[in-house]
This record gives sequence, C-alpha cells and structure tokens, in this order.
Amino acid sequence: MKLDIHENKPIHITQPDLPPFGEFTASLKQIWGNKWLTNSGPFHQEFEQAIAKYLGVKYISVFSNGTLALVTALQALRITGEVITTPFSFVATTHSIWWNNIKPVFADIEPNYFNLDPGKVEAAITPQTTAIMPVHVYGNPCDVAKLQQIADTYGLKLIYDAAHAFGVKKDDNSILNHGDLAILSFHATKVFNTIEGGAIVCHNAKMKQRIDYLKNFGYAGENTIIAPGINAKMNELQAAYGLLQLKYVDGHIAKRKIISEKYRAQLGGMQGIRLLPDIKAVHHNYSYFPVLIDSRKFGKTRDEVYEELKKHNVFSRKYFYPLISQFPTYRGLPSATRGNLPIAEKVTKEVLCLPIYPALDLSSVDLICGIIRKSIS
Ligand SMILES: *Cc1c(COP(=O)(O)O)cnc(C)c1O
Repeated sequence: MKLDIHENKPIHITQPDLPPFGEFTASLKQIWGNKWLTNSGPFHQEFEQAIAKYLGVKYISVFSNGTLALVTALQALRITGEVITTPFSFVATTHSIWWNNIKPVFADIEPNYFNLDPGKVEAAITPQTTAIMPVHVYGNPCDVAKLQQIADTYGLKLIYDAAHAFGVKKDDNSILNHGDLAILSFHATKVFNTIEGGAIVCHNAKMKQRIDYLKNFGYAGENTIIAPGINAKMNELQAAYGLLQLKYVDGHIAKRKIISEKYRAQLGGMQGIRLLPDIKAVHHNYSYFPVLIDSRKFGKTRDEVYEELKKHNVFSRKYFYPLISQFPTYRGLPSATRGNLPIAEKVTKEVLCLPIYPALDLSSVDLICGIIRKSIS
C-alpha cells in the first residue's frame, strides 16, 4: 500500500464548507446597497425563517456564536444554583454555566453513545439544582424522554447543548424540539457553518422575544431595557452566508454519510476498534467519526494511533480529551473527583475522532484506515 501519497498534503479532522464565491459576492452587493449591517436586518430575518423551516422547529433566534447562545439560554430561563451537566463535551458547555455564576455538577455518561446518563443525573440532584444541561454528543440523541421525565418530576429546566446536532431527526422529528431550549453552533468546524455563529431553538413566541431582547443588550424598545442583556447578535454578512449554506447542506451531509460508510466498511470488523452504530430511527448528520481503541485488544493505545496518523500527516482529534472535569478550573469541584465519572474517564482515554468532511475523498479514507491497520502489523 502506498502510504506516502499524502505526506505533503495534511488531512485535518475537518475542512469547512463555503458557499460558491459568486453567490456570496451577490449577497454582499445587496448588503452594500442596504447599508444595514446588523441589528435584525433583512438577511437576519430571512435566515431565521429559512433555518427554522429547514430544521423543522417553531422558533429560532440566531447568534454570533454558540457559546453566547448557551450563556444567554441560561439567562433566559433565570437559571441559578447548580446545573447538572456532562464532563464529556467541548469545554464551552461548562464555561457557559460558569459565566452565569452557577455551579456545574458533573454526572457520568452512558456507555453506548456517551451522552449524559439519566440515572446519574437523578442521583446528582440537590435542593440547589435548577436545570440539566446535556449534550447530544457527536449528534447522537440523548435519552430525551427520560431526561424530560426527570426534569418534570423535580421541577428542573432542561437545556440541550445541541451544537453537534444540526439537522438530526428522530422518528422524523427534529431533536432540537426537545427540552426547554436547544442551542446550536455554526462555527467553521461544524456540519453547518456561518463562519462563527449559533442559535437558540425555543417553542413559543414569548420566549423568542425574550431571547431576542437578551442578545441585544436587553433592549425592548428605544428607551426600554428589560434585563442585563449581552451583545450576541448575528450580523448581516453571517446571515447572508448562512442562507446560501442552507441550499447546500443536504448535499454535504449526504457526502459525509458516504465517508462514514466507507470507514465502517474498513474498520468495522477490526479487533479492538469499536464504532458507534448508526441508529435506525435517527436521521444522522455524520458530523464526527469517533472510534474507540481498546489498547489490550488492538495492541496499540489511542495515543499511539494518534501519533502514527500524525506521522503520516493525518490530524485526528481526541474529542473529548481531557474531560471538562479534568481541567484546572473545574477539577476541584466535588463532582469532578477521580472515580466519580468512571465511564467518562474510560472513554476519554480510548476515543479518537477521524477526519470527516464532504471534500474528503474516499482514497484518503482508505489511506487513513491503512495507517491504522498497519500500525499493529
Ligand atoms: C462548538 C461547540 C460549542 C461552542 O460553539 P461556538 O459556536 O464555537 O461558540 C459548544 N458546545 C459544543 C458541544 C460544541 O461542540
């Protein structure tokens, strides 16, 4: 096998999709004509309507990025005290809680798809708990029914970090329709990007109104401020770009699916490598391709495989390593104590996300799988 054809051409974990340049310059021309750059301009309004329709959700408010959408979601629901969340996510999930002066409480994940384990959530509830913030990790849906049941039983709010779950449906219903609020990220590295960007999905017009006020300093009129809001508005260039992206995202997801299937065909039967199976009732977005490497069965550790790929100019990523609960900021929390999160502690040592993006050609997938196969020979 020729393992060196890509030696000088690095393959990264992802590569962003951009709309056709000519289409974007046409939008820019309109913006230059409008002289309306931000503050709920025509592209912002059109984008919100188009994306709500595309996703199959009732109300959506678009943001300058996903992290500010998370921070604002907690404000919108007046969350205080303690929020139960997952250690197995991108660090912004817990940061958003911290920025609201709320105490994050980590609960362990379940072993199949690495989402927050509802049983562990229930065990972590205290009189101070006001909300649960789970993540649909890699776009695989959480146990939304159980989590809602727990939230209802204990009178808690449920806010999903759905940054990975753009376009994901279960039984033909958007996964974003679950919980009180769901947050999206449109960062350049995500399945759907507006360069930077994000959104909050909600279920009624009153909540959308409140969120719209909060992302614009709390302005509810020329001289009326209803809350200490923030500036988290999406600008017109991002919204115009997003509108164009919507036309192509189905095609991009279809290409990701083909790549995912190619990986599955090549790595599926390999001793010591575990893949997360697709779920029948779920329309996936193929945002990530995680593999778990059991070093005793495979013969090499996750880190050794990572280094071997790197030597061949293939840049996989250890999503998510370290756990959020292992970072200096959070490791002193009682819930972060070693041994409290055994499944997350095991998964974080074994998981590796392989490159996946629409422009990744199938020969590169062969190459990557070949490097992994050869690493143990
Ligand atoms: C990307 C991501 C975020 C942050 O979104 P930004 O748009 O980059 O601010 C939050 N949570 C998760 C799980 C993410 O993957």
